[in-house]
Amino acid sequence: MSLHTLSMHRSQPQSTGEVALVGAGPGDPGLLTLHACQALQRAEVVLYDALVSQAILDLIPNGVECIAVGKRCGAHSLPQAEIERVMVAKAAAGARVVRLKGGDPLMFGRGGEEMRALKAAGIPYRVVPGVTAASACAAYGAMPLTHRGVAQGVTFVTGHGKDGQPVEDWRPYVIPGHTLVIYMGLKRAEWIQQGLLKAGMDPQMPVAIVGQASQPGQQRLNGTLATLPALAVMEGLPSPAAIIVGETTALAQELDWFEAENQPAVSAKSLDISLDSAAV
Ligand code: SAH
Repeated sequence: MSLHTLSMHRSQPQSTGEVALVGAGPGDPGLLTLHACQALQRAEVVLYDALVSQAILDLIPNGVECIAVGKRCGAHSLPQAEIERVMVAKAAAGARVVRLKGGDPLMFGRGGEEMRALKAAGIPYRVVPGVTAASACAAYGAMPLTHRGVAQGVTFVTGHGKDGQPVEDWRPYVIPGHTLVIYMGLKRAEWIQQGLLKAGMDPQMPVAIVGQASQPGQQRLNGTLATLPALAVMEGLPSPAAIIVGETTALAQELDWFEAENQPAVSAKSLDISLDSAAV
């Protein structure tokens, strides 16, 4: 190799790849966006979370390097810093990387942290939004998040904050005519119930839990705030699941279009949980 070519090589840094933070939606591949599909088709490396359904992983072309980086319930099989390190290293080596996340990457998905890591490393990135769990639970659970005259607003909140600490004071979330969608709340259903009651919510407030929204195994359970802890431990409730609190959840039986075709939804009535016996 001549000195000339050596210096050429030195002066031409390896071309940098790119990262697409892609929302995979709630599980049904039909809910992927065209941008998400195109990103998967062009990917050389895919780093995916455990929430991404098998049906979506099956769309990744053969030969693409696929790296599983997450477990459910916040316990990451790779620590967040390590996920960011691998993502940056693959892109810095020139790969087109897809960081595939369940739902929407910027909704309880640590997408902001990953964008920051990419920015700091000088890696070009873009974000492809996905259908978030709240939208999927609403659509496939047949309950609007807002409804004229019933709910004028909606809040998405986590039941599992940084270091596992959820919301302490639920008063800001108890708003008349408002729907609450609680992500990652199932294991803390009783704690959430107690917090909402303490904040003044009516124990008769209708609630629903939707597990595996949009997927063939979807289950919707309907009840009230009083029966929420009992619903959350129902046998057969698939994970992941989200809790929806608000008057519009009571519309689910009337408006159902999805579960009737799959399997019957279970209601609080058929659970045989009397309000008196439920801990309030
Ligand atoms: N970024 C994701 C949320 C990640 S947090 C999104 O936008 O949807 C993980 C939580 O999302 C789960 O604990 C559960 O509460 C909810 N979730 C994700 N997928 C779901 C699904 N298919 N059905 C019901 N809840 C789901």
